[in-house]
Amino acid sequence: MLLHLHFTADSNPTLSAIPPAPMKKPTIRVTKWLVDIPVEAVCSACPGIVFRAQPSGHRPNRDEYQKSIQAQFDEHCKKAHSQE
Ligand SMILES: [Zn+2]
Repeated sequence: MLLHLHFTADSNPTLSAIPPAPMKKPTIRVTKWLVDIPVEAVCSACPGIVFRAQPSGHRPNRDEYQKSIQAQFDEHCKKAHSQE
């Protein structure tokens, strides 16, 4: 009985020596497309966060929509994922 307990205690440092899983790097996941234009995206690490393209022009512009979503994602990363 005592021998068994001693063995169990000795095995603990080995278990705690395993490093924690590395943080998953958040990425943009586009959830809505207007043909080939991303209009809505989410953060892969935060399921509740949604980014919507906010165009300044009248016509959907792929570059503009992409930049809009990217900018919102960058801003979100600064607030929510600033560990790096
Ligand atoms: Zn996030």
